[in-house]
Amino acid sequence: MKRGLLLVISGPSGVGKGTVCQALLARDPSLYLSISVTTRPPRAGEIDGKDYFFVSEEQFLEMVARGELLEWARVYSYYYGTPREPVDRALLAGRDVLLEIDVQGGFKVRENCPDSVLVFLLPPSWEELRQRLARRGTEGWQAQQQRLEWARQELALYPRYDYSVVNDRLEDTVATVEAIRLAERHRSFRQQFPWLRSLFDR
Ligand code: ADP
Ligand code: 5GP
Repeated sequence: MKRGLLLVISGPSGVGKGTVCQALLARDPSLYLSISVTTRPPRAGEIDGKDYFFVSEEQFLEMVARGELLEWARVYSYYYGTPREPVDRALLAGRDVLLEIDVQGGFKVRENCPDSVLVFLLPPSWEELRQRLARRGTEGWQAQQQRLEWARQELALYPRYDYSVVNDRLEDTVATVEAIRLAERHRSFRQQFPWLRSLFDR
């Protein structure tokens, strides 16, 4: 069976990563969205095992020591990481995998899995990013300012990603990411045509 594609989605907080990933998943349930481990406390409405696996700092560092994380990073004041085993299992089963992770994590995934595909989401403008963060209302004013300062630094790194997509109209963004996925699946190095072998083995 053909191995799945490992697709990393990054971009500043509030740009719409979560929204875009959920929309991709709704259109294609065969996609596997990785659930990260984090030491951040759950927000109202977040469910352990669905949005994140919420763990203590001690538990997180044990997972790191045991090599259970494909990548991990400290973002804002918390640790975040991608459990390795479910991702490997999905890829082996031929499913495409989505990782919604920060830019430091994206670079580590590229190091560990050179055939991964890195997609950077940008807001249509700085003002729109500020408004989306404020509108979401999950962080207080101070945390929003911290995320915007982080966003400024993250945005400078978009040229190091394979693809950059402006998340203006959601439907357009989803269609563009799907087009990237489709094109990447057709890269020659990912293709196998068993019937061709019989032509060359003669
Ligand atoms: P992230 O996961 O990148 O932090 P979210 O997916 O939580 O961002 O989105 C942040 C806010 O922006 C949410 O309120 C969401 O509904 C809104 N949003 C996401 N995508 C768009 C879009 N294309 N146009 C307008 N608002 C959007
Ligand atoms: P939030 O606290 O808003 O859910 O996420 C904060 C940031 O952490 C976002 O940029 C998000 O993409 C990133 N993040 C979430 N999970 C992971 C992960 O497993 N690894 C890394 N490196 N970053 C993550």
